[in-house]
Amino acid sequence: MHETEFYQQILGLTPPWIVANVTLDTEAGQVDIHVEHADGAKFCCPECDRQLACYDHVSERRWRHLDTMQYRTVLHAKPPRVKCPEHGVKQVQLPWAEKNSRFTLFFERFSIDVLLATQTVQGAAGILRTSWDETWHILKKAVARGKARKTDAVMPRIGIDEKAFRKGQNYITLIYDLDRSTVEAISDGNDTDAGNACFSQLSQAQRDGIEAIAMDMSAAYVKSAKENIPLAETKIVHDRFHVMKLATEAVDKVRRGEHRKLSAVGDKRLTRTRYLWLSGQENLSEQQRERFDAVYTQELETGKAWAYKEMLRDLWHHADATSATVYFKDWYKRVIHTKLSPLKKVAKTIRDRLANVVSYCTHFITNAVAEGMNSKIMSIKRRVGGYRNRENFKTAIYFYCGGLDLYPH
Ligand SMILES: [Zn+2]
Repeated sequence: MHETEFYQQILGLTPPWIVANVTLDTEAGQVDIHVEHADGAKFCCPECDRQLACYDHVSERRWRHLDTMQYRTVLHAKPPRVKCPEHGVKQVQLPWAEKNSRFTLFFERFSIDVLLATQTVQGAAGILRTSWDETWHILKKAVARGKARKTDAVMPRIGIDEKAFRKGQNYITLIYDLDRSTVEAISDGNDTDAGNACFSQLSQAQRDGIEAIAMDMSAAYVKSAKENIPLAETKIVHDRFHVMKLATEAVDKVRRGEHRKLSAVGDKRLTRTRYLWLSGQENLSEQQRERFDAVYTQELETGKAWAYKEMLRDLWHHADATSATVYFKDWYKRVIHTKLSPLKKVAKTIRDRLANVVSYCTHFITNAVAEGMNSKIMSIKRRVGGYRNRENFKTAIYFYCGGLDLYPH
């Protein structure tokens, strides 16, 4: 078999396209494939698909293709133009590449796979032998393609959550589809406007189709959910992990205060016990558990706070919202009569939002998806060494977490 025929077959070129010649430059490590079309071939107007004769050609262009063995492989061709009576002179769509791309479809598809596998632009660029900018451009195009193809399928269960773009500041707000575990919308900031900006990226049908929304207890997201989602009040579920986190932080505050007081009179009972109070019992080693039991039986304030926090966990184990409400009211009454101020504060916060805490018993959703996704996003950020700006960071989140159809067809 002649090499032109060989390449024509492995490239999958169909008439009128043929491989005219193939050259190998061993020193440059490159294979160049020159593609031409048969004389008299007809092409479609890219606007109206009308079949037309070739009008002229633009100057030669090159497309990086998949390597031939260890050799970089480049396609060369002069793209034909047609003269459509309706649309004028237009360059035709080539079967091997998207318009204005410097890479073939095969190469772009492979690049997307490499980007997904390596999870870093730098790493992918190294394997593909492309520059950072070229690789980033392929990623960005894939996201644009995927977003354009998105349907407004209804997402019954969503989560809304914030995420720090840089440590401790510069937040973004994300909406997750809890069933598909995908990021569906991103906006800047973490206030009501940010929430609104996120919801506005969903279609009206999608907003109407939401049955349950997981979120923390921040007033900002409650407000924007109410402004955007019909009957939001019955759909909001305050994420139980966020609620328990508040209770755990309250226990820690009690511990710090008590430890300060005890230390002042030389009592070291609470020294280096922070971990014991903050970890779940199931995560403690046998030795740690023995230490825990020893401090717990001292009947310190910290121990009391811890016990109330543990009781609160059972709030999410009720069969329905009514019995969960009864349970909470009993818990609240006990806590509010203690001297454990940080815990009393949390108790009041929960009381004020109780309907949307016990709504868990109706909707059974949490923002665990968001938490899981957080670590994925953080690892992407870490491995890429930080995106150059916030827009790039958002694009990368959509690429890796958007569940998009990224590939060129
Ligand atoms: Zn036309």
